[in-house]
Amino acid sequence: MEKLIAKPVIEKLSQSLVERTITLKSRLGRAPHLTVVLIGEDPASQVYVRNKGLAAEKVGFTHETLLFPATIDPGVVKKKVQELSASKEVDGILIQRPVPKQFKESEVVSWVAPEKDVDCLHPENIGLLVNGTPRFLPCTPAGVIEILDFYKIPIEGKIACVIGRSSIVGKPLAALLLARNATVIQVHRSTLNPEALCKQADLVFAAAGVKHLVNKNWIKDGAVVVDVGIHRNADGKLTGDVDPDSIQSLASAMTPVPGGVGPMTIQLLLENTYRSAEMRLV
Ligand code: NAD
Repeated sequence: MEKLIAKPVIEKLSQSLVERTITLKSRLGRAPHLTVVLIGEDPASQVYVRNKGLAAEKVGFTHETLLFPATIDPGVVKKKVQELSASKEVDGILIQRPVPKQFKESEVVSWVAPEKDVDCLHPENIGLLVNGTPRFLPCTPAGVIEILDFYKIPIEGKIACVIGRSSIVGKPLAALLLARNATVIQVHRSTLNPEALCKQADLVFAAAGVKHLVNKNWIKDGAVVVDVGIHRNADGKLTGDVDPDSIQSLASAMTPVPGGVGPMTIQLLLENTYRSAEMRLV
């Protein structure tokens, strides 16, 4: 079973982005700028936000993180995000999720101007994506497609099974696969006998958030398996939605956890920020 690791994919994308950023900086008169809004002190979110900043610096972007206490009035954050949306110095705005419970996620996604919504969560950007005319690409799903393309795994005409239908992974991933002419089966919590449906697929995308849900009963001989899930074992090690030992003798290739889909998301966030900065030129 081939391991579809992210490292060479990221190296290739990153190198190209560094070069493109040098040119863009001279045309724009400044570096692309990413602003992250972090509300509360969730330790995992703090790590993600720090990593986003480091990755932005590495490709030549500038960045800042705005911190708000967990108890903040949503109206205060909304006003600040609207100011950022209007600023000529800011290209990408991202509100780190999860947000505290006094915030409504469905409303928060509309606060960022669609032209700066580098997370691709604004309803307008989701509409454009489903329409086949995307402004930005959804970061994790686009990272998945980059891995398949790098390893020259064909998508067109293949049967793809997406396990999960969240707004952040399952739904936008299905849209991207359809745009690449795959035949998409989408299974979710209410699907009867999802294993039998998934067993028809040439390409399997596990994004259910259930540790080791996918085993040999879900996989047909020779299928390519992409594991989006992230779970931490009792020993602190990361694992995914797929049981790699169980599918070892069936799958032809699989993304490992860690080192597969996980690191791709930030890379695609940077691509979106670049794209947003580039759009400011016209
Ligand atoms: P979610 O909980 O929002 O959605 C899970 C989806 O899976 C739901 O649509 C649900 O119907 C479906 N589902 C649940 N149990 C199922 C079952 N038994 N059979 C079939 N479908 C089932 O989760 P999410 O935000 O989409 O995240 C999914 C996983 O991907 C999580 O482990 C998360 O940590 C991971 N994730 C990774 C990245 C990354 O790699 N950068 C980004 C986002 C999410």
